[in-house]
Amino acid sequence: MRSLLAPGPILGVFLVLLVLGPQFLPEFHITLLNYIGLYALVALGLVLLTGVGGLTSFGQAAFVGLGAYATAWLTTATNLPAWMGLLANPWGGLVAGMVVTALVALLLGLLTLRLSGHYLPLGTIAWGISLYFLFGNLEFLGGHTGISGIPSLSLAGFELRDGRHYYYLIWLVLLMAVWLTRNLLDSRAGRSIRALKGGVVMAEAMGVDTGRAKLVIFVLAALFACLSGWLYAHLQRFVNPTPFGLHIGIEYLFMAVIGGAAHVWGALVGAAVITILKQWLQDLLPQLFGATGNFEVIAFGLLMIVVLHRARDGLWPWLARWVPEQKSALAGRLREAEPLPRRAVPSGGTRLLEVKDAVKQFGGLLANDRMNLAVSAGEILALIGPNGAGKSTLFNLITGVDPPTSGEVHFLGEAVAGLNSRTIARMGMSRTFQHVRLLAGMTVLENVALGAHMRGRHGVPVAMLHLERGEELRLLAEAARQCERVGLGMHLDDAAGSLPLGKQRIVEIARALAADPCLLLLDEPAAGLRFLEKQALAELLKQLRAEGMGVLLVEHDMEFVMDLADRVVVMEFGKKIAEGLPHEVQIDPAVIEAYLGGVE
Ligand code: ADP
Ligand code: MG
Repeated sequence: MRSLLAPGPILGVFLVLLVLGPQFLPEFHITLLNYIGLYALVALGLVLLTGVGGLTSFGQAAFVGLGAYATAWLTTATNLPAWMGLLANPWGGLVAGMVVTALVALLLGLLTLRLSGHYLPLGTIAWGISLYFLFGNLEFLGGHTGISGIPSLSLAGFELRDGRHYYYLIWLVLLMAVWLTRNLLDSRAGRSIRALKGGVVMAEAMGVDTGRAKLVIFVLAALFACLSGWLYAHLQRFVNPTPFGLHIGIEYLFMAVIGGAAHVWGALVGAAVITILKQWLQDLLPQLFGATGNFEVIAFGLLMIVVLHRARDGLWPWLARWVPEQKSALAGRLREAEPLPRRAVPSGGTRLLEVKDAVKQFGGLLANDRMNLAVSAGEILALIGPNGAGKSTLFNLITGVDPPTSGEVHFLGEAVAGLNSRTIARMGMSRTFQHVRLLAGMTVLENVALGAHMRGRHGVPVAMLHLERGEELRLLAEAARQCERVGLGMHLDDAAGSLPLGKQRIVEIARALAADPCLLLLDEPAAGLRFLEKQALAELLKQLRAEGMGVLLVEHDMEFVMDLADRVVVMEFGKKIAEGLPHEVQIDPAVIEAYLGGVE
């Protein structure tokens, strides 16, 4: 999480400047800073949603509108029914706005978040436009003229009368939101959110409910936008639909991307850069061209293209290079943590997994053709066969990544075929992927901690307040323990993507072990390992077997397999062609034919 932390001294200087600012800045700059704060709050939601979660939204301005209109209406309407009397003030407006926004976001999220690829951004454009026109066409919201006469805010009897007063409130709210977001991202719930961009299949196999995680960040981003709208309405004391349209929604996205959409401080940088630049260009360009017009829009378009070419990650990472790194506060305390409780281990010989007549068809291709196999506790079963035989496909059927076309899979005596991988993972099955699925930018420790996801329980609100530090410490300590166990103790703080591929496979094993499984499925774990690393891996697997774990292993290195496996199943063209003890299958004519057939 280092990149998300603003370092102590620099943050300190920033805060001092922020507090002292109004003492010496002219009114005009205060106004600008107020807008930067309001915009940054919306952009912060987009950091979470788009930068971290990978879900692009053009529609955030509509949520700002919901926040602004909710309070505008409640604080100015003259003929409210009696039961709404309690809400007819700015605080009631805030509560109502947040509730309405959460409900609308929940509904829109359920409808649009399922959309994949470019359909999702298109979906956000659709509801962004709809809400904008709703604001303009509802009579009780004042149509296109809007609502005026919104009261100013009062805090504990102190009325906020001018921009300087609002300045402190806006920036306090923004910094709180930054703190909450940072806390969230640096937590168990945050890891599952950070896995959404490119790691959905893996995260589900680690027991993460990714659909829910998407919905959570969608609602949170909407709530930040709503809060910004509420502040805006009381600062301006007037609202109309204009600032809540699609083009402003696009501008919010600009801010997040230009600032650095994957970093909480990027929201602030982006909002500041765009707001100041816009102000400056609006003055400069018409003078330059000798004509009036919104030339700044063209300049922004060009700026965006330059950023996408030259600094795709935005300005923050570039600024952060001058900033010393800061480690997670928990890193030094991993040894203090009490170990997590463990699953009851099935006794040796218990039948863990049974695959019966499993079939998987891809169009005309039978990738698995009535496959049968079984794995018991305390046993290593090797699954071998030429490339394309259907081994990885079988792994996906067993672990719920892909449902079988027909056939049965029993795990711990329960039928699991057709269940999703999250559910199966929770029962005690864990796996690695042939094509390594790590979150390259996250540290090795965090990647492995994702494996322990199911062993924690605290959710988003607790994480945002960092009230789950005890549990988080235990999860990270468990991750560290598994890393040590597989020989990655030196690499806890390295970005997973920076390791050589062989080591990345080992990270996958540590992650699978962090789930405390009773059945482990390893898809070509030794590929890319050097001799000594293979030996260490073999030792580890033998130790796991001795502890009663069942292991299903796909591997091409025959020496490795034959030395390690208790039994071997051989596949070719989706079918099982042999099964037996290692020395038996080695001399099986069908196996020799399958492996040497093409050589003749
Ligand atoms: P192995 O792991 O034994 O090398 P796979 O299970 O990856 O083999 O693949 C078995 C066959 O199924 C291959 O012919 C492969 O091209 C095909 N296959 C695998 N996944 C898909 C898919 N999602 N869609 C279509 N064909 C697939
Ligand atoms: Mg494979």
